[in-house]
Amino acid sequence: MSRVCITVDFEPDCPPYLSATFRGIEQGAPALLALFAERSIRATYFTTGEVAERYPEAIRAVVRDGHELGCHGVSHTAFDTLPEAEAQREIIDSARLLRTFAPVGSFRAPYLRFPEPYVRLLEDADFTLDSSLAKYKWSYLARRVPTTLTRVPASMTSSVLRLPAVLRNPVLLSLADPVVLFVHPWEFVDLTREDLRYDCRFRTGEVALRCLREVIELFQRRGARFVTMRELLPGASAA
Ligand SMILES: [Zn+2]
Repeated sequence: MSRVCITVDFEPDCPPYLSATFRGIEQGAPALLALFAERSIRATYFTTGEVAERYPEAIRAVVRDGHELGCHGVSHTAFDTLPEAEAQREIIDSARLLRTFAPVGSFRAPYLRFPEPYVRLLEDADFTLDSSLAKYKWSYLARRVPTTLTRVPASMTSSVLRLPAVLRNPVLLSLADPVVLFVHPWEFVDLTREDLRYDCRFRTGEVALRCLREVIELFQRRGARFVTMRELLPGASAA
């Protein structure tokens, strides 16, 4: 049976549209933690340095509940807009801050956009796993650099999880092992009346939380095993 990895991109509200507010961290994150606790699931939180700096208590709550802390850069800037020295700064600074909370070995680039030559920067900063690739993007087919990192692509974009079950479930059940899903805390805040791109705001808030609960229950009914990113490393023991 398949392994399912729920990942949370722990970041500002729907960047780049609302990147100065953090309602997701303030209002969405507690409900998300409660849902994971209720379903006995451990997730992986790809966190920006900015969130860790502003909301250290939220990071401590994530770590306390046994979730894996991963790295999502400092400022949610797309790495393909950064020269190498700045990219390296983002990686080193965010890793250093996040590692004051917990061991951090997994990385995901904002917007799932990460130039292949920069993979070396992750090796230099002692990362062991990268989840910046996405199976549903054209860039997934591009040539990869050889690396010591384990590459774990995202299976599907996050807004699909908010679709009605009749549309969502056939897609979910067709995904190959390991199934890597991602959500954002701001999806669990009602943004339906915000002036935002449609896929950022549709069915956010209570509906999104209900959808995620249904998704978890769907996989649990089918005997899937929920794992964190580091449990996907070669040789990782089944927890
Ligand atoms: Zn992000």
